[in-house]
Amino acid sequence: MKYYSTNKQVADVSLEEAVVTGLAADRGLYMPLTIKPLPQSFYDTIDTLSFQEIAFHVAEAFFGEDVPADKLRAIVNDTLSFDTPVVPVSKDIYALELFHGPTLAFKDVGGRFMARLLSHFIQSDEHKQVNVLVATSGDTGSAVANGFLGVPGIHVYVLYPKGKVSEIQEKQFTTLGQNITAIEVDGCFDDCQAMVKAAFMDEELNRRLKLTSANSINIARFLPQAFYYFNAYAQLKRMGKEQQMVVAVPSGNFGNLTAGLFGKHMGLPIKRFIAANNSNDIVYKYLQTGSYEPRASVSTIANAMDVGNPSNFARILDLYGESHAAICKELSGAAYTDEQIAACVKRVWNEEGYLLDPHGACGYQSLVEGLQEGEVGVFLETAHPAKFKDTIEQIIGEEIEIPQKLQEFMKGEKQSIQMAPTLEALKAYLMN
Ligand SMILES: *Cc1c(COP(=O)(O)O)cnc(C)c1O
Repeated sequence: MKYYSTNKQVADVSLEEAVVTGLAADRGLYMPLTIKPLPQSFYDTIDTLSFQEIAFHVAEAFFGEDVPADKLRAIVNDTLSFDTPVVPVSKDIYALELFHGPTLAFKDVGGRFMARLLSHFIQSDEHKQVNVLVATSGDTGSAVANGFLGVPGIHVYVLYPKGKVSEIQEKQFTTLGQNITAIEVDGCFDDCQAMVKAAFMDEELNRRLKLTSANSINIARFLPQAFYYFNAYAQLKRMGKEQQMVVAVPSGNFGNLTAGLFGKHMGLPIKRFIAANNSNDIVYKYLQTGSYEPRASVSTIANAMDVGNPSNFARILDLYGESHAAICKELSGAAYTDEQIAACVKRVWNEEGYLLDPHGACGYQSLVEGLQEGEVGVFLETAHPAKFKDTIEQIIGEEIEIPQKLQEFMKGEKQSIQMAPTLEALKAYLMN
C-alpha cells in the first residue's frame, strides 16, 4: 500500500517510509491510497470472533500488503493483551472501556502497535538508531514510553508541558529510564507539539539523526485505534443492540475519532459519530460554522484534550474531500466547560454508580444530549478515572482507589531534562 500526503506536494511513499518518517516532507499527514472495505461475511460473523481476531482482520486490510501475516498477527496479539469491554452506564448508553492496558488509557494500543511495527522495519532494514519524538498533553507520553520501553534501536524523547500534567501521568514516563528520556518544557502542549514539528522540518537535525514521531500524526500510531470500534460493534451485536449505533469520541488531536471514521469507511455499520470536546472547541465551532480557526489551547480538567490545533483535522478534511457538508452528515460536535464536566461526573457517580473520567464524561454527556429515538450510544472511556485522582476526588468528595498498575509507577523517581520552549533548545540537546 502506498501512502500520500494530505498536502499532496510530495510523491507517495511506502508504509515503511510513512512510519519511519512520521510526517511528510510537505508537512502533510500520510493517508493510505485506498481504504479497503471488509467483506459482508466478516460483519455477519464478527460477534463470533475474539478481539485479537477482529483486530487482525482490520490490521490486514491496512498493513497486509506490507507486513507478512504471521508477523502482523504477532504484533496484533502482543498489542492487544487486554480487552476493551462495553459496559452499560444508563439507558441506551454504554461505555467502551479502553483503559485496561498497561498505562490505563486507550493510547496503549497505538503506542505498542507502533513500537512493534517500527521495530519490525528497523530489524529487516538495519537502519541506524531511530529517535522517536513525542509531544504529550498527558497520556500520549506514558503510552508511547511504555510501548517502546526496552525496544532495541529506538530512543524515545517525551516532551511535556511543565506543571500541566497530573502527577500520576508524569510518573508514567519520567521514571522509566532505559531508552526513554522525559523533556520538561517551560510552556504549554502546543509549544511541545510545535517543537516536535519544527524538529522534523529542520534539515541539519535530520541529516544528523533519524527522527520520527509517535504522535497520532504517525500512521502506525493512529490507524490501529480503529480496532476497538470494531470490537465495540461486535459486543453490541452479541447483545442484539448493534442497530443505529452512535459513537461519541472525547477528542483532542482527533486521532481516535479519525480512526473510527476509517472504520466506517471500511463498512463498519456505525450510524454516526459525535466529537466531544472540552473548552478547546475548535472543531466544534468548525462543525457549526464551516470555518476552522485554530487558537492557543486552554487548560481544562480533561487535559489530554487541551489541543488548540488538532493535527488529525487535516485527515478528516481529506477523508471527506474537504466538504463541510459531507463531514456533517457523519459527524456532529459537542463541547463542555470544566463546570459541566464536573457536574456530569458527579451526577453519573451518584445516580448510576459509574465513575467517569473527565474525558469520558464529555463523551457521555454528548450522548445524553444528542441521542435520538431508537439509537444506541457508545462513548469511549479513554482513561481510568484514577489517572485524574485529585480532580475526581474533588468532584465526588470521596477518595478513590488507585489500581495496582498505577501504584507501581508512583514508586519510581522522576527524572527529566528542563527545556525552554524553542526548537533551538531541543536541537542543541539532541545534537549533543
Ligand atoms: C489522548 C486522549 C484523548 C484525545 O484523543 P485524540 O486522539 O487526541 O483526540 C482523550 N482522552 C484521553 C484520556 C486521552 O489520553
